[in-house]
Amino acid sequence: MIEVYVSLGANLDDPRAQVMQAIDDLALLPQSRLLAVSSLYRSAPMVLPDQVKTGIPVQPDYINAVAKLETALTPHTLLDELQAIEQTHGRQRDGQRWRARTLDLDLLLYGNQQLDNERLQVPHTGIAVRNFVLYPLGELAPQKLQIPGVGKLADLLDRCSPKGLEKITL
Ligand code: ATP
Ligand code: MG
Ligand code: MG
Repeated sequence: MIEVYVSLGANLDDPRAQVMQAIDDLALLPQSRLLAVSSLYRSAPMVLPDQVKTGIPVQPDYINAVAKLETALTPHTLLDELQAIEQTHGRQRDGQRWRARTLDLDLLLYGNQQLDNERLQVPHTGIAVRNFVLYPLGELAPQKLQIPGVGKLADLLDRCSPKGLEKITL
């Protein structure tokens, strides 16, 4: 079994319910076991410069979390499963990143493996700078965790402002 971390994000159609349901979905993944889930966080959306220029309406805030699993699935099969869950949540893809969505599941870490191919980059490319990924990850993973090719989790957290990120207390 390989230890993996998955980020969850949603900002459409009752995002909090989407994330809670997605956690249940992750618990049902084949050949896998859900080990832990972070707190939920609220974050301001990331916006691409062209989205500002073209006047695409401002997106609603996101609800984010990170889940820790162990799995016997290969990275690509796991990605297939994550995308299948996104589909059951009605995720629409128009080929553009960072669009408003009902659910985004990204594979952050797959053990200590590094993958860089057309479909899959692991560690996830945004991991070093996204506070809505690093802070929930920091709840679940040891601070001394070495993120392959990126650095130590504690150092990344030191360099990453929590600005705009709000932990949701239930
Ligand atoms: P970002 O990856 O910057 O957070 P996004 O999540 O909005 O952007 P998506 O539209 O969800 O991007 O995915 C676009 C493509 O990213 C997917 O089709 C998938 O093949 C690819 N991808 C590459 N690495 C990963 C990864 N680690 N986890 C999930 N998808 C990945
Ligand atoms: Mg994403
Ligand atoms: Mg994604």
